[in-house]
Amino acid sequence: MDPNGYTEAELQIQRTVREFTRREVAPGAAERDGLSQFDYGLYRQLGELGVPGMLFSGELGGSDAGQLAFCLAIEEISRADVALALTTWVGIQGAQALARLRDDRPEGWTGRFVLPTVRGEMVGAGAITEPDAGSDTAALRTSATLDGDEWVLNGAKIFISNAGLENCGFVTPLCRTDEGFGLFLVPQGTRGFRMGPPLKKMGLRSSDTRELWFDDCRVPATHLLGGRGSGRAAVVGGGFALTRVYIASNGVGAAAECLDLALAHARARVAFKRSISRFQHVQAMLVETAVELEAGRMLRDRACRMHEAHLPYTKEAAMAKLYCTEMAKRAADHGVQIFGGLGYMDETPVSRYYRDVRALTIAEGTSEIQKHIIAREMGCFSPA
Ligand SMILES: Cc1cc2nc3c(=O)[nH]c(=O)nc-3n(C[C@H](O)[C@H](O)[C@H](O)COP(=O)(O)OP(=O)(O)OC[C@H]3O[C@@H](n4cnc5c(N)ncnc54)[C@H](O)[C@@H]3O)c2cc1C
Repeated sequence: MDPNGYTEAELQIQRTVREFTRREVAPGAAERDGLSQFDYGLYRQLGELGVPGMLFSGELGGSDAGQLAFCLAIEEISRADVALALTTWVGIQGAQALARLRDDRPEGWTGRFVLPTVRGEMVGAGAITEPDAGSDTAALRTSATLDGDEWVLNGAKIFISNAGLENCGFVTPLCRTDEGFGLFLVPQGTRGFRMGPPLKKMGLRSSDTRELWFDDCRVPATHLLGGRGSGRAAVVGGGFALTRVYIASNGVGAAAECLDLALAHARARVAFKRSISRFQHVQAMLVETAVELEAGRMLRDRACRMHEAHLPYTKEAAMAKLYCTEMAKRAADHGVQIFGGLGYMDETPVSRYYRDVRALTIAEGTSEIQKHIIAREMGCFSPA
């Protein structure tokens, strides 16, 4: 029996992705980070392996492998390159929203956007955060006004992943309409949609992050996804729960790699005539990381299983996100500490993980917002 309760299919996916990432992803991760460069060929290879298609149906070319299997793949990619793993799960969200629509709009979106995403030839970008509103999504100001048979979008978005990549086919901004918030499809090249240069980041440097502007940007009326006014509920209520287990998986993967690196170093490094892994204070850092990693993985797995069983899992997804991303921060910090001075140098992978995981407790809802969600789900805001 697998101690984590993973099925044979899930274990097979884990093994396949692990073997691929060790061979193809890990060797160039430091260089891509140093050059702040995304590798399109590598992403295509991930597509050939089937990773971006894991959550799409067979008729769309996907494998319908399930949330947990996808999380195991994201975890494995994160062990080698957190930035690539983030680009991957962010990149499929838009196509997932399109695939969920009951109709294939007149524009033939399946062929234009969904199938290329499944094959790893295209990514999408989800644009929610604005310069004046991040956590407080109710305060978003980007507007969409219906003018005849077109929507006219105006406003700015910031910290948007993927939008500037050459293979980004479309963005899905969340906009305020006269009947509430709606999620829109804006293909690249639409007049009135522009973006700034890549933002310079502390970590995740080979992922793309930009500011976007919509200036009288016109899209056909059909480009409103789902119902008018349903966008924020869909994103905040459902979409975020899913993406939170993905970002939790970024944390689990990064922490697992930091632990392996730190343990190997601790056993090999000699001080005071013995390997430093013999010192109790060093052991404490390794042990804390090992225990927290197991706990985090269980929280992540449980949220996935609840989603797969169609059970409400908002609280469990928030718990997994909160715990796994904070845990990854501690794991990377211990990793740097155990490597000593070397841990602070760019040549050591733990220093890259330390910078990369810092974003995880912020993106997809900060740790404070996860605590707020958990408190709300526990009933803290309801009368006794
Ligand atoms: C690498 C990276 C990639 C990202 N990619 C995307 C993307 O693709 N698309 C996208 O839309 N966004 C993206 N973001 C933006 C991210 O989702 C926001 O930064 C995040 O939601 C926080 O919003 P904010 O930056 O406006 O911070 P604020 O909302 O201004 O928060 C600032 C501080 O106040 C705290 N705070 C706010 N409200 C409360 C409260 N009610 N209770 C307690 N504390 C509170 C926060 O926890 C935080 O510590 C990305 C961010 C990063 C770092």
